[in-house]
Amino acid sequence: MTKEERTKRILEKLDARYGTTKEGFFHRQDWQLLVAIMLSAQSTDKQVDETLPALFERFQTARDVADAPVEEIERYIRSVGLYKIKARNMKKCCTQIMEEYGGRVPDRLEEVLKLAGVGRKTGTLFLADAYGIPGVTVDTHVFRVSKRLGWAVGKNPQEVEQELMEVLPVDHWNRINFQLIYLGREICTARKAYCVKCPLRIWCKTGGQEEEAHPSGSIPL
Ligand code: SF4
Repeated sequence: MTKEERTKRILEKLDARYGTTKEGFFHRQDWQLLVAIMLSAQSTDKQVDETLPALFERFQTARDVADAPVEEIERYIRSVGLYKIKARNMKKCCTQIMEEYGGRVPDRLEEVLKLAGVGRKTGTLFLADAYGIPGVTVDTHVFRVSKRLGWAVGKNPQEVEQELMEVLPVDHWNRINFQLIYLGREICTARKAYCVKCPLRIWCKTGGQEEEAHPSGSIPL
């Protein structure tokens, strides 16, 4: 089987197991989606989901965030990780959106990356979710699982992002992120790859090796 055929089978399995769309964060406006993605770094989706309704009830426009004292923003996002830094970034980012972009989050990566608190991962994910712009977002799970699958050998997220864009069809770019996150949390974990349970094992570059190293009976499920 060629590498392309193996990749195709893997992608079909990922679609079948994890679906092709992910339920997005609660939001009504593009700046709210950007804020939600910023808040999700170092936090669980559940923490963010619980934070957003009250946050967006109080701050209904990017101008509201830009004008608010940082201490007040902190009170609304206290339950997410790194909330003090995120509150400062939210205020700066919303000020930029109002003063430099006319109240709308830009739709080009180079511009989105100029906003306070927006790194490559947040920016790519935002453009995909808000505007449907294809992009591969590489977080710790995507980085690790891509290498185990044999899709990438890069030393940093940006190198792996480039490799994945070459390996994957464009129409799969936006969903590979959440699919590999789910697989990485559930089966191909940082601590151990539970290959015996993995639906990708037949086509995975390291799946067979892991199986030899850890016979099924000895793998904790
Ligand atoms: S077969 Fe093993 S190494 Fe490959 S993706 Fe699945 S769990 Fe990870």
